[in-house]
Amino acid sequence: MTKIAVFPGSFSPFTIGHQAIVERGLLIFDKIIIAIGENNDKKYFFSINDRIKWIQNVYLKHPKIKVKSYKGLTVDFCKKTGANFILRGLRNSNDFQFERNIAQTNNQLSNDIETIFFMTPPELSHISSTIIRDIIKNGGDVSQFLPKEINL
Ligand code: ADP
Repeated sequence: MTKIAVFPGSFSPFTIGHQAIVERGLLIFDKIIIAIGENNDKKYFFSINDRIKWIQNVYLKHPKIKVKSYKGLTVDFCKKTGANFILRGLRNSNDFQFERNIAQTNNQLSNDIETIFFMTPPELSHISSTIIRDIIKNGGDVSQFLPKEINL
């Protein structure tokens, strides 16, 4: 069976923390779909097209990784794409509390979909897209937090 995982998130922007989770996911999955959730009620700092383009640039030469956007439930998107796994990253106990509820709810909605977590490497556990957006809003340089292919 081909093991396909969806890595859902806002990725606003995609950071070296996210990249570390994808790298670890590649150790066990045959294909990873990085999936940007589009929530109509949310106002995003970066456009969906920019976010897709940036992540595609990071994985241009990587046949196992696809980048897509989706609307609606993550479990429905998984079914549509043939994925049985959801990939997520854990930075700290706050992430764990939040992620556990989502993972258990998703599993209840669709019990053939399992969420697999990877711990972030400790040196990347402070990196968050929210803080990066704050630095950008205040004119700072965020290049050290982003994959080298992404220049904001
Ligand atoms: P969401 O809005 O769904 O939380 P994010 O783009 O913020 O989307 O995060 C997507 C996933 O990446 C989540 O599982 C989150 O815990 C994980 N993640 C975010 N930052 C890091 C990091 N620095 N290291 C590891 N995982 C991270």
